[in-house]
Amino acid sequence: MVELGVGGRGILPRREFPRLLEAITASGYEIVGPTVREGAIVYDRLRGVDDLPIGWTDRQEGGQYRLERRGDEALFGYTVGPYTWKKFLFPARERLFTARREGDSFVVIPEPTDGPKLALFGMRACELAGLDITDTVFQGGPTPDPGYRARRGRILRVAVQCGQAGGTCFCVSMGTGPGVRGGADLVVTEILSPGEHRFRLDIGSEEGARVVRGLASVLAPVPPEDDARVEAIVARTAASMGRTMESRGLRDLLRETLDHPRWQHVANRCLSCTNCTMVCPTCFCSTHEEVPDLNAETVERWRRWDSCFNLGFSELHGVSVRKSGLSRYRQWLTHKLGTWHDQFGSSGCVGCGRCITWCPVAIDLTEEVAALRQPATPSAPPGGNR
Ligand code: SF4
Ligand code: SF4
Repeated sequence: MVELGVGGRGILPRREFPRLLEAITASGYEIVGPTVREGAIVYDRLRGVDDLPIGWTDRQEGGQYRLERRGDEALFGYTVGPYTWKKFLFPARERLFTARREGDSFVVIPEPTDGPKLALFGMRACELAGLDITDTVFQGGPTPDPGYRARRGRILRVAVQCGQAGGTCFCVSMGTGPGVRGGADLVVTEILSPGEHRFRLDIGSEEGARVVRGLASVLAPVPPEDDARVEAIVARTAASMGRTMESRGLRDLLRETLDHPRWQHVANRCLSCTNCTMVCPTCFCSTHEEVPDLNAETVERWRRWDSCFNLGFSELHGVSVRKSGLSRYRQWLTHKLGTWHDQFGSSGCVGCGRCITWCPVAIDLTEEVAALRQPATPSAPPGGNR
């Protein structure tokens, strides 16, 4: 008999896996998760198990991403793609409120914050850590973001423990993965070998227990050898990280190397394209736009994602205070890995590797940090423009 309370777990055979999605849907959630589209694995609406990237894997390197067929029917045999779950909580473009003229004054009509309950299906350990960070950013202070808070209160977190590491992953260095250490309502680990395909399902919260309570008849007790296999899967993934980064002392290192010549080296390559910030699960810069109607009766305030790599992002009184690519890349990295600690009490990086994969010129923050740890050579060009 399988205990279906918090901390309970069971083995779900592959043929019964659709029952898990059915149970989530029956509990009132729309499911969003990984699916193949336009040559990449993206997060979108899932109607059933067949929408998952069955039998696909990804190959990732600096500036490179491609999908390949695996030799099996794994449901989760890939790592993270260009999308992050952030878009479901902090949409890329969002109307915040509408103001309508009324006589000599105006009224503000707030944007409704209701919406569907969403199951984020297939969150990886680094992505759970990313969610912790955006929780702190958007609702950890005295004025929580109402839209984020409402959407965050409606999600179910269904995590998957990674069975392989990507070429640009370094979650081990950042202490965020690959094993799930909490923060999920349900955790799935895929156990796949010739002739065997099943999943260990772990229950992490009361809500997770409520969702799977109807699965008692299809879940089997976990034999000790499957526990050992799950441990081995996570250990093997941890041992095969594509990248490493020494994260100790980074905050001080970055503060002390503002004039290091390496900044010019990276600025010579950086296109300021903003890709690294768009794919990052924790970047949260945004800008606001007022959109009036033609007869000036109403005006809408919209928020959309922005990037510290944009020249206009640091504009003060019409003048950008970070004119050079050097100053913009340095701002991004010193915030992400350094001053984020002062602002939010943690690093802003979870080691997902997306910014390396999706940088068109393969700029790699793990490589940049390693270079900043080297003493500046006197013949190298100066750090220059701040
Ligand atoms: S900085 Fe790069 S590796 Fe770190 S969380 Fe953002 S995208 Fe992932
Ligand atoms: S580091 Fe790469 S991805 Fe980021 S702005 Fe520069 S060129 Fe674009």
